[in-house]
Amino acid sequence: MTPFLYERAADRQGALALGARAGASYLGGGTNLVDLMRETIAHPELLVDVTGLSREIEDTPEGGLRIGAGVKNTAVAGDRRVRQRYPLLAQAILAGASAQIRNMATTGGNILQRTRCAYFYDDAARCNKRAPGAGCDAVEGFNRIHAILGASPACVATHPSDMCVALAALEATVTLEGQDGGREIAFADLHRLPGETPEVETQLRPGELITAVTLPPNGLAARSTYRKVRDRASYAFALVSVAAGLELEGGVIGDVRLALGGVAHKPWRAHAAEAALKGRPATESVFREAAEAELAPARPLRDNGFKIELARRVIVDTLVKLARTEETV
Ligand SMILES: Cc1cc2nc3c(=O)[nH]c(=O)nc-3n(C[C@H](O)[C@H](O)[C@H](O)COP(=O)(O)OP(=O)(O)OC[C@H]3O[C@@H](n4cnc5c(N)ncnc54)[C@H](O)[C@@H]3O)c2cc1C
Repeated sequence: MTPFLYERAADRQGALALGARAGASYLGGGTNLVDLMRETIAHPELLVDVTGLSREIEDTPEGGLRIGAGVKNTAVAGDRRVRQRYPLLAQAILAGASAQIRNMATTGGNILQRTRCAYFYDDAARCNKRAPGAGCDAVEGFNRIHAILGASPACVATHPSDMCVALAALEATVTLEGQDGGREIAFADLHRLPGETPEVETQLRPGELITAVTLPPNGLAARSTYRKVRDRASYAFALVSVAAGLELEGGVIGDVRLALGGVAHKPWRAHAAEAALKGRPATESVFREAAEAELAPARPLRDNGFKIELARRVIVDTLVKLARTEETV
């Protein structure tokens, strides 16, 4: 590990001042960043510990919920308001990692965790994300876990977070603070597709700090679920995951939200499927049409063609089960 300095931020202004220094990185629970430092993939010169900041979950005047970036994953998943009003989010968090990691991991760090592409972690391999312009060994390599949607010749990595798939479906917003002030950004716009610059993973500006995530009032609590398909029943990243929420009015689909994990460089909001579902009867054939619409642009690599069929089946099965669910809220 390369030597580095460590500072614990006393407050937000202090964090921003330290975060503006050259070579600085914010430190959440460290469950991803410290691994990357040990593997010599990340080399921050200064770690700015922000785990003492933004630790509250608060109701918003509009009826939503604001989750501080420093709130631990375990605390979010266990919060009574999250469990009752946003069960999709609690389920997604609990589907990820292990209890020990969730006890350490923060909301901000989970959002900004890096890909699990093996070529990104292997400094003997070519990786445009780690060394821009180097090339990508995953494209012609062992690419079973890689992207089927929105990838580019420069990068086929996926975003690994479960929590983020739920946040995309719930239409969350992210609060960012920089030295020039704060701004709100739609969660769906935070992460980028790789294009020519896969090393630029989000819309964050240098030194910007995530301070909160805000959930809008409607959590589709009555009929929502997170479904994750993975190689092992626990402690494994998603091959494909689906966050779904459905409102039915007399068997007809009203509001619907669908987002996919494990398939793209960012949490993938399934807009084409949603458009194919709204106002239609909640039947298996309509769900299948919607899945086809979403996956029409999917492009397999050598080893991950199975993900297209898997995603199709998981979308359809999840929606069928949701449509049969008795409203609980
Ligand atoms: C063995 C293992 C299995 C796992 N399995 C899963 C899984 O199945 N599903 C899943 O979703 N995740 C999984 N994870 C990943 C885990 O969820 C992440 O490591 C964790 O959420 C990262 O949070 P953290 O607070 O520890 O982030 P850190 O490691 O501290 O930071 C991650 C990144 O976020 C930045 N950062 C942190 N806080 C802020 C902030 N407030 N503002 C701006 N930047 C910030 C850091 O600079 C860093 O770049 C697994 C991890 C491990 C080690």
